[in-house]
Amino acid sequence: MYPRLMIDINKLRSNLEGVARITKEQGRCSLMIVTKGLCADREMVKLVCQHPAVDFVADSRIHNLETYACRARKAGKQTVLLRLPMACEIEKVIKFADISFNSEVATLRLLNEEAAKQEKIHKVVLMIDLGDLREGIFFKNEEAVLNTVSEILSMKNLELYGIAVNLTCYGAIIPKYDNLSQLCDWAEKIETKFELKLQMVSGGNSSSIYLIEKEELPEGINNLRLGEAFLLGNDTAYGTKLPGATDDALILEAQIIELKEKPSLPIGEVGVDAFGQKPYYEDRGVIKRAIIAIGQQDTDISSMTPLDSGIDILGASSDHMILDVSQSEKKYEVGDIVKFKVGYGAMLKTATSGYVEKVYS
Ligand SMILES: *Cc1c(COP(=O)(O)O)cnc(C)c1O
Repeated sequence: MYPRLMIDINKLRSNLEGVARITKEQGRCSLMIVTKGLCADREMVKLVCQHPAVDFVADSRIHNLETYACRARKAGKQTVLLRLPMACEIEKVIKFADISFNSEVATLRLLNEEAAKQEKIHKVVLMIDLGDLREGIFFKNEEAVLNTVSEILSMKNLELYGIAVNLTCYGAIIPKYDNLSQLCDWAEKIETKFELKLQMVSGGNSSSIYLIEKEELPEGINNLRLGEAFLLGNDTAYGTKLPGATDDALILEAQIIELKEKPSLPIGEVGVDAFGQKPYYEDRGVIKRAIIAIGQQDTDISSMTPLDSGIDILGASSDHMILDVSQSEKKYEVGDIVKFKVGYGAMLKTATSGYVEKVYS
């Protein structure tokens, strides 16, 4: 059935080995693989859990960890919840995550209480915000960092496992030697002041991996958390391809349901489209327009690249996507399949959509 997301498990495996080589051998970091980009799909998770190079498996949603915590733990991997826990999911966090990322004392108290109830020691990683302005204690607020650390240390069923930063997600701030060094400074300060050893100093996501090859990852960083680098082969700081990884492990396929020659300019007064946007049209004269059966409900059209370079994406409504196939060398017919490489947005939405089948090859 179409639309479908074709997942080449061998390509994913070589991507995994590619990022492991860079992260572990060159960068001397532990490897945390992030599964949310493919909605923690089962076969991909199996690959990650079975692979000896993976140290931690992580997701931002406890719902996803719930589906594979058992498998991961059996394989000797620790499970990590990346998004700060909601107060309503504390019980599941303690059950399914060995480690959770945190920045709020109120939440830490709930975790501590619940861990005691479940007779567990729960590991926490404290998020430090180095300027991207998503989650974490702001790095200049020394008092807040130190107070939170001593709060954690006073909680009997929590263990302070490490500290971490997240960059290039909200503020699009690029990790560099200078800002990541500040995380290492914080690690040293905490270790000295409280006479302890932090197991993990996690230097970010797929936007940090480029620093390893430039030999600019600060020495104190000992972990990276990689989702997109593994799934799509991308360094996301500058959008370059990682050596040894491919960007076509995932291919989205959709079927043509109408193919007609029509003008490129709509006729009549222009209002707003299905999403309240005023559309812009380029006059290309009469063109061959293909409608494929996939839409904004299933995918992000701005991060799809047709494998046939003669195809142009014109737009989409909820369930219909419109392509200009005039310049293609292929003579398309109704019923033909059009294939696309996916970027992060299209991967995330197609993996989440109940209308897109996932097929492994
Ligand atoms: C999503 C996420 C990651 C992984 O990001 P990628 O860019 O896919 O590597 C890492 N850390 C946190 C906190 C995240 O939310």
